[in-house]
Amino acid sequence: MATSASQRVEELRARIAYHDQKYYVQDSPELSDADYDALVGELRAIEEEHPDLLTPDSPTQRVGGIPSLLFTPVTHRLAMMSLDNAFDLDELRAWVDRIAKIDPAVLGAEFACELKIDGIAMSLTYESGAFVRAATRGDGFTGEDVTSNVASVSTVPKRLRWPDRNGPTPAVMEVRGEVYMPVSSFEELNRRQLEAGERAFANPRNSAAGSLRQKDARITASRDLSFWAYQIGAREGGPDLHSHSEALEFLRGCGLPVNPEVRTVKGVDEVFAFCSHWQEHRHDLDYEIDGVVVKVDDLTLQQRLGATSRAPRWAVAFKFPPEERNTKLTHIMVSIGRTGRATPFAMLEPVFVGGSTVAVATLHNADQVRLKDVRPGDTVVVRKAGDVIPEVVGPVLSARPRGLRAWKFPTKCPSCGGELLRLPGESDTFCTNLECPAQRVQRIVHFASRAAMDIEGLGEKRVVQLVGAGLLTDPGDIYGLDRARLVELERMGELSVDNVLRSIEQSKDRPLSRLLVGLGIRHLGPTGCRALAREYRSLEQIMAGSVEELAAVEGIGPVIADSVVEFLSSPGNQSVVERLRSFGVNMTEPGALAVAGGAAQTTTPGVQLAQTLTGRSVVVTGTLDGYSREEAEEAIMAHGGRSPGSVSSRTWAVVVGFEPGMAKVRKAEELQVPVVDGSRFDELLLTGELPGD
Ligand code: NAD
Repeated sequence: MATSASQRVEELRARIAYHDQKYYVQDSPELSDADYDALVGELRAIEEEHPDLLTPDSPTQRVGGIPSLLFTPVTHRLAMMSLDNAFDLDELRAWVDRIAKIDPAVLGAEFACELKIDGIAMSLTYESGAFVRAATRGDGFTGEDVTSNVASVSTVPKRLRWPDRNGPTPAVMEVRGEVYMPVSSFEELNRRQLEAGERAFANPRNSAAGSLRQKDARITASRDLSFWAYQIGAREGGPDLHSHSEALEFLRGCGLPVNPEVRTVKGVDEVFAFCSHWQEHRHDLDYEIDGVVVKVDDLTLQQRLGATSRAPRWAVAFKFPPEERNTKLTHIMVSIGRTGRATPFAMLEPVFVGGSTVAVATLHNADQVRLKDVRPGDTVVVRKAGDVIPEVVGPVLSARPRGLRAWKFPTKCPSCGGELLRLPGESDTFCTNLECPAQRVQRIVHFASRAAMDIEGLGEKRVVQLVGAGLLTDPGDIYGLDRARLVELERMGELSVDNVLRSIEQSKDRPLSRLLVGLGIRHLGPTGCRALAREYRSLEQIMAGSVEELAAVEGIGPVIADSVVEFLSSPGNQSVVERLRSFGVNMTEPGALAVAGGAAQTTTPGVQLAQTLTGRSVVVTGTLDGYSREEAEEAIMAHGGRSPGSVSSRTWAVVVGFEPGMAKVRKAEELQVPVVDGSRFDELLLTGELPGD
């Protein structure tokens, strides 16, 4: 047992050393922080059980960084330490109990709670008020001299303000803090990296570390780095300070940027309330935080509590649950949409990340799979931040089994076996067989969806079942569904059958514009459906229109008109329309008359759409299916709304598509502006209501 424990200890230390090198020296970690912390946690547990295996150089006993040979070494006057962690309320209580045993004054003490900035620890030295040196933490004793790099960080003052009341300027003052990259700057940097054909950075912390530790300080200067000060280190002279919060006020008075979100509270419950608040609101900020640092406020008490070999006893880091985890990608599969688009997605060993369990994640298209180079069998980093859709960030190359083959996009449709086709210059691949069962299912699901005919109870699972049972082949069959056949099916009780049938019946009265949406005509978005319906008022009239006539309707144009005519002249589609008509489905648009000069007349081109968004400001971020950025903005305006480029407290909703700007999403959350998934955009336009769940 002891031998296997000692073997495991050796193994864990070697793996931790490897990942320290990747993280601290190369600024390109392969492991998520949570998985790294799990290795250290396992090591600590074994060492506690087998104290004979504990050595002073164990990673559990020292500060983790490694000063690289790239920069001149700097010896810290006062060691820069790490922090012990707490992951929940019980661990916070255990920390307080532990230090209260050393000094019971802790029980009545105040705690300063601060945000734990996810950046790079930095020591700035000011001599007689002038900035003279910046050094990284390194191994805690020796850091790297990055003075010229930090000199270009505009929020780092080059000379401190020194109010007279503070007495004579201290000969030396060391300021500790965190250099970080704002999220918006990180997104901008990654956009530029991709444009230049370079690899994107994984997260703001890595890009801040990579930008800072550059031999050529001009590269650092070109990156938007910033700084928060949170502690005074070594000091000669200056005022008497009694508490940490007083020290922060003093730093602020000197002109240093001090984070405003600091609270001094009493008791573990108040500490925990602060931690919980920020755990929920972490994405409201334009910088990343990975927890809250809790510090005993009284400086004399801090001194009495002292430090271990790696961390002060008077502080603890409350760490938030991870938003990145490593897991196994077991398969890459392809799903077929209603238009035949083949979308690859990753099947993952389920992993709890960003507040939910993730087992699948879209990989978008063939190029994305190739760029990310993820392969079935890889260990991958999965990221899910807040409510944003889970994403496979990339593979952990060091964990890739030998001989793992790159994934190839299939040439045959997984549903019907038909040819999959990718046209030159296009990023998407399509199944071109209109009879394909997967497309059939998706076409029916789309027809019944909220933005179209809004039939409750006809979701994907049910439609798959009905198509499988031979009861549905296209939307035309929906209205002929037979009660007796339905109740024979599995999981279809009398009550649910009645509910579905009632919902089907009600959908017959939907206006023509919704029916057009449901038919899913290529290129014809919901705005175009509205325009055609208002202009022509009946499906019959639209079917009688020529390409030129339809193209003359505002918002239609020749490409859409061509597609509409082609769709409606296909015998298969005509038979669907005929069956819908025979079941009494409404094919007209109500209220398309405008009153002018006392006489009713139809609207002319330039037709006004239902003003569902009058006076509302809707911001769009990321790509929306079926819309270019301009088209999405036009659609909002055509429905009476405005679509400014930024989120403010006056924004009514933010629509989030593929690869959204995270700064906008965070701003929306901060201002409590509703965030709408991009797939519900059509519904939003049509109803003018915020889609519910
Ligand atoms: P830490 O990041 O858990 O906490 C200590 C650091 O917090 C301090 O050095 C300071 O820089 C920072 N900090 C931020 N805001 C602060 C504030 N307001 N007050 C005080 N300090 C503040 O510990 P660490 O020793 O710096 O690093 C260990 C952590 O780094 C690990 O837990 C892991 O998350 C990560 N890591 C990851 C890998 C990897 O491969 N992914 C490898 C090594 C380390």
